[in-house]
Amino acid sequence: MSLRFYNTLSQRVEEFHPARDNTVRLYTCGPTVYSYAHIGNFRTFTFVDILRRWLRASGYGLDHVMNITDVDDKIIRNAAAEKKTLGEYTAVYTQAFLEDCATLRLEVAEHLVKATDHIGDMADAIARLTAGQHTYTSDGSVYFRIATFPGYGKLSHNDFSGNLAGARVDVDEYEKADARDFALWKAPKEGETSWDTKIGPGRPGWHIECSVMAIKYLGETLDIHAGGVDLIFPHHENEIAQSESLTGKQFSRFWLHAEFLMVEGQKMAKSLGNYFTLRDLIGRGYKPEAIRYLLASVPYRKSLNFTFDGLQAAQMAIERLRNFKLRLDTEKLPEGGDDKMAARTEAAAQAFVNSLDDDLNTAEALAAAFEYARDANSAMDAGQFGADNRAAAVRFFEQFDAVFDVLKPSGADAGDDDSKIEARIAERNAAKKARNFARADQIRDELLAMGIILEDTKSGVRWKRK
Ligand code: AMP
Ligand code: ZN
Repeated sequence: MSLRFYNTLSQRVEEFHPARDNTVRLYTCGPTVYSYAHIGNFRTFTFVDILRRWLRASGYGLDHVMNITDVDDKIIRNAAAEKKTLGEYTAVYTQAFLEDCATLRLEVAEHLVKATDHIGDMADAIARLTAGQHTYTSDGSVYFRIATFPGYGKLSHNDFSGNLAGARVDVDEYEKADARDFALWKAPKEGETSWDTKIGPGRPGWHIECSVMAIKYLGETLDIHAGGVDLIFPHHENEIAQSESLTGKQFSRFWLHAEFLMVEGQKMAKSLGNYFTLRDLIGRGYKPEAIRYLLASVPYRKSLNFTFDGLQAAQMAIERLRNFKLRLDTEKLPEGGDDKMAARTEAAAQAFVNSLDDDLNTAEALAAAFEYARDANSAMDAGQFGADNRAAAVRFFEQFDAVFDVLKPSGADAGDDDSKIEARIAERNAAKKARNFARADQIRDELLAMGIILEDTKSGVRWKRK
């Protein structure tokens, strides 16, 4: 089987290959940096991270753009309230977002681009849309005339016929299923930041930034465009209308959308007040890896209910895997290999691949790892896991962690790890003093299997990681 994704555009699961040169051109809508992102936002960004890692594991190169929306209604309002410039205000939350991504081990896109660095490009695009008769101007604002784009509705599968002309909207968010001409460019208002451009003074609407930055860095047709389901309409529908009106080409071949993180039956959202930031949870003592695990554990097209019990269970699940990995790395195994165990390892690795190939079925991929750990533990207990079985099992867990990335402890725990190593070294020193050289050698070998190299020097034992 090969890699397949559910494509919102076709409403079907389709086999995925990039269109050109083995590189996936991927665009994902990034954060609006008006405040700290909440873990609902990070559910979508964690999905993007798993997507990136699985595309890479599938042998593809990545060319990924993520935008930072650093100008919008809320940002302007909040910056003014704090008497800060837009730049001063958004720098804080952009930095916080990047720190949170690092905490959650989310890979950074190849191009992380800010809307305010592309105002001129947006003005150019709007000028071209105007030349193509796709816009009209009213009170200094420029609107996209939806009636000029016959494909409008093809992503959200809404039928907008009879509902396309006339009414317009200039706020960045508006009601679902309400197709109104949207603002590409907003007239300057007293006291608001604006830019002087070839189409006059003002500031861009939200939708145009994604079209412009995607095309600028990735070309006219993307392989994959992704975001949360709330972006399908109107944001992504509008991106398609703008981009395809500009280029005459299909804007993105695949559209992938992550379902919501929920709290007690409702979407986690700033506006509902039912949210936690990453910092809230870490402040309460939860581990970043546990949060990452929880967010990744449910396949992205299913909504995920956030609970503290779930977070606790995630932490315990990681501990189980870590304990197995430690045993795998350090256990003294009988010589030779067991054929049944070799076949079991291969089957687990294959099940892992098949699950992620199946539209990133992370729940099944995790199950493959847990069932394997359980069977391999039993086999070790029964002496049916030989030394020759170790390498393949280690490879499987490397493959697992290249995607899920939860096995290495972070922060204070990483320090704990160091102190555990020091403790083993102290144990070895004591064994040597007691002239129990066999025990001392055994500890050295166990540490070596964990990637720790010991050096006996005149001033004592030094250690380093391989
Ligand atoms: P924003 O910063 O509001 O532009 O949102 C950033 C990303 O988070 C978008 O892709 C949204 O679709 C996504 N998002 C917002 N709320 C949730 C939620 N409760 N669960 C999952 N994704 C969400
Ligand atoms: Zn976008």
